[in-house]
Amino acid sequence: MDEIVKGIIKDENVLVAATVCTETVSHAQKIHDTWPTATAAMGRLIAGAVLLASTLKDRQKVMIQVRGDGPLEEVVAESDWLYRIRAYVRRPHIYMGLKGEKIDVGRAVGKGFLNVIRDLGLREYYQSSVELQTGEIATDLAYYLNISEQIPSAVSLGVFVSPDNSVRAAGGFMIQTMPDTRREIIDFLERKLIDVRPVTSMIMDGLNAFDILEEAVGLPVEMINHSEISYSCPCTKDRVINAIVTLGKEEIGKMIDEGETVKVECFFCKTKYEVTLEELRELLRII
Ligand SMILES: [Zn+2]
Repeated sequence: MDEIVKGIIKDENVLVAATVCTETVSHAQKIHDTWPTATAAMGRLIAGAVLLASTLKDRQKVMIQVRGDGPLEEVVAESDWLYRIRAYVRRPHIYMGLKGEKIDVGRAVGKGFLNVIRDLGLREYYQSSVELQTGEIATDLAYYLNISEQIPSAVSLGVFVSPDNSVRAAGGFMIQTMPDTRREIIDFLERKLIDVRPVTSMIMDGLNAFDILEEAVGLPVEMINHSEISYSCPCTKDRVINAIVTLGKEEIGKMIDEGETVKVECFFCKTKYEVTLEELRELLRII
């Protein structure tokens, strides 16, 4: 079962969160038919979006988008406050080989920007972007949190892809200190993180999200909450029709003149929708 655990280091003002999202990333890999480098990039973004979602309030959403000049071009992952996650990668068939023992996501992403869009509900959005530091996602997300949100943060994200292209492990953790966190604790955590083992190794050893947190920080953690997470896209035919309505009467008229059923495929879940000429004519009557 995929999950996220949010907690606090006991007696210290340090927020921590960890996710195991192997099934979610595996599901995304199948939907998008991604090859290993694209799978790793998308999976790291999914884990990152889940971790950021642990800071959301009810009815809010967060989207992380990476755009670079490498062959992947664009990768997006989104999570809402209930950890319903969806993702998209523009060029799914990318495999660049390994860099040491790791999948070379940085080279596949290239130079560019990481954007974070927070949907705060009631049509209020907060958007901010930073230049990619490495393209490896975790360091870029930590840089974003430190610079744009001004929260001193450490982020670790990992995806392990088997030679047969299946996802064996995916997850991550995030540590955030507060202005009143003691200096000794910050120094301790910085030293601890230097040689913490990869999160995928912990997952393949059977650790759950809570165990990952305790191993990563090396201190007792008090759980604040625990949630299941899953891949879920909220697209519906009604939403497709609403999107067509926003094109305006003239554009819908043109679509009718072309005389063909409108076919739309959802970017995130690949569900196909068809809007018939009859439905388009009906739309023209009511808008
Ligand atoms: Zn969809």
